[in-house]
Amino acid sequence: MTDKADCTRRSCTADYESRRLQALASYQILDTQPESAFDDLVEVASIICEAPIAVINFIDRDRQWFKSEKGLGVRETPLDISICAHAILQPGLFVVPDTTQDPRFANNPLVTGEPHLRFYAGALLESSDGYPLGTLCILDYRPRELTERQGFALKALANQVMAHMQLMQAHRDQAELISELKATRHKLAERAATDPLTGLLNRRAFEKHLNQEVALMQRGAPSAALMLIDIDYFKAVNDTLGHQAGDEVLLRFAEQCQEVFRESDVIGRWGGEEFVILLPRTSVPDGQYAAERLHSLLSTTPMLEQEESRAPLHITVSIGICSLDGGSSIDECLHRADQLLYQAKSEGRNRTACETVEALLQWDN
Ligand code: GH3
Ligand code: MG
Ligand code: MG
Repeated sequence: MTDKADCTRRSCTADYESRRLQALASYQILDTQPESAFDDLVEVASIICEAPIAVINFIDRDRQWFKSEKGLGVRETPLDISICAHAILQPGLFVVPDTTQDPRFANNPLVTGEPHLRFYAGALLESSDGYPLGTLCILDYRPRELTERQGFALKALANQVMAHMQLMQAHRDQAELISELKATRHKLAERAATDPLTGLLNRRAFEKHLNQEVALMQRGAPSAALMLIDIDYFKAVNDTLGHQAGDEVLLRFAEQCQEVFRESDVIGRWGGEEFVILLPRTSVPDGQYAAERLHSLLSTTPMLEQEESRAPLHITVSIGICSLDGGSSIDECLHRADQLLYQAKSEGRNRTACETVEALLQWDN
């Protein structure tokens, strides 16, 4: 309020003006389209004050801009011919009974020329924190006065203009909060579903996908392949290069998986150095084909670039693949994939073991 008092004593500093413009900008009203709520208030001001011209105007940096106007036919004018720019320098009502008799306005081109404005009355539009933003004003082509009741009504209408703008602002703030809340909720849900090291789905989120996929298959979607992957001799990576290097390998491996598998395949970190892939609409032989691509990529792509003296680090993986359809129990299917993975390990690692047709028939029976 001291700022406002300062300004009413006409000692507006550049700093004050910049804060006033900031307050005006916070309402996001400048250059918006006409709106009936404001047009109605202007019409009522014109009727009550019996004036041919009524305007809701805001004093911007170098122009006055009209949110709503009746009888003027323009939406902005330069500030140097603005009467309202004087009006916002004092609180309450600013009345100029005859512009030709007032040295501040006698030479104003709007007074000396078209539209020959002779009377002005403006009620201050003030921000919630006390900054003068503009006026609700009425103008006439003849010198005159405003009755006390008209003056009261003009001020009351100006308060309504600001009340409406504050409501719009609160609405916007609320919408912004809601969208921030949604984004945070989305981020939290994403974080809860993500393995922090690799950015892949964690086990819980993967299981959710698995359940959804089986539900789809129960409604007729084609069967899928389920792949369990375990990095071979990973403990040795940690033991020789350290746990941090081990983490880097896991991350790099996850990136390779994202390259090898299709966009529609769902990749998860099952735990430790084990990964699980759901390949929707995929037969076991097609799954095996994808697994071969992974073996081949790993044989040519180092997982760690090491110092010159040491060879780049390559890893191999063992893989178990089984089929998943609408009749499968997820637990059984995972158990089968785990057994196949174990088989691949025991057969010498760096290979894939797949469910055979015979095994499938056996499971079906
Ligand atoms: P195998 O070929 O039989 O799978 O041998 P392995 O060494 O890969 O298997 P083992 O189960 O003996 O060791 C797995 C290692 O993976 C042990 C564990 O410390 C390591 N590990 C599990 N999770 C992480 C992790 O998040 N970061 C790192 N750096 N290591 C991990
Ligand atoms: Mg393991
Ligand atoms: Mg392992």
